Amino acid sequence: MTARGAAPRAIASLTLAIAAAGCVPAVADSPPAPKAAAAPAAVAPSVPNAPPVPKPLPGPAGFAFRGSMIQGGTLIGQVPGGTRTLTLDGAPVPVAGDGAFLIAFDRDAPASQQLVATLSDGRTVARTLSIAAGNWRIENINAPYRGSASSDAEFERRRPAELAQIAAARARHVESDGWRQQFRWPATGRLSGFFGSQRVYQGKPGSYHSGTDIAVPAGTPFFAPADGVVVLAADAPFTLEGNLLIVDHGMGLTSAFLHCQRLDVKVGDHVTQGQQLGTVGATGRATGPHMHWGLKWRDARLDPGTLAGPMAR
Ligand SMILES: [Zn+2]
Repeated sequence: MTARGAAPRAIASLTLAIAAAGCVPAVADSPPAPKAAAAPAAVAPSVPNAPPVPKPLPGPAGFAFRGSMIQGGTLIGQVPGGTRTLTLDGAPVPVAGDGAFLIAFDRDAPASQQLVATLSDGRTVARTLSIAAGNWRIENINAPYRGSASSDAEFERRRPAELAQIAAARARHVESDGWRQQFRWPATGRLSGFFGSQRVYQGKPGSYHSGTDIAVPAGTPFFAPADGVVVLAADAPFTLEGNLLIVDHGMGLTSAFLHCQRLDVKVGDHVTQGQQLGTVGATGRATGPHMHWGLKWRDARLDPGTLAGPMAR
């Protein structure tokens, strides 16, 4: 039907050869986030073991931050005293009762973004954030781009309903303070796929990898990286994601766990950090058993590694 459907078999075998226990690289597991999205990105502490909430409250003059201003990174901040509303590049950012907030930066976030607090007396406090470029693994392939491997008739038939289900889950509003916690890895093992990595085919970029892959045997338990509420727990495998689980950590920060063998939680469950959520598998489009952990703040795609910090094994 379209160029995307060309030679799926060739792409699939190329993928098998290159990416053991990883995601199929030419396939995005959800629609790409818009560049420089109106929604601000999520936040990850740059100092992995620092306490999650910045204290004490700063004086009325300025912001306080903890985290790294880098593409794919997340940041926890504290608004100036007396703040009534907060925006990032014009988009509203929710502020917790204690003045803490979360923002994050998409994989392709612009080099600077503007944070503006409006105080109760009408004054504004602005801060320009300089966002460092991410260091993504880019691989140049001397072969023509052949499009996604995902387009066959069955995929085209099933995909719209799956995307609608994912969008509905992400649109749910939940209350959770998980975003304040120091995130943990849902599973530990060899990293077999890196957030942001991308193949460029004779100058034409393919989709970048939207999560971090951890290669562990099928049946390995995986655990909640932080507190949250289950907003999607697939009752049948999705075409790409397989058995998909999405946990909302509050403030628009969500974790997605792909290719699961089994899910132990259901929609609406409140999960606590470290709780077993299911087991790792190879359902959906995967080249072997692994945990693909994706992290988003609103529409911004984030690097789970910057939030979880170095993996202790
Ligand atoms: Zn992956």
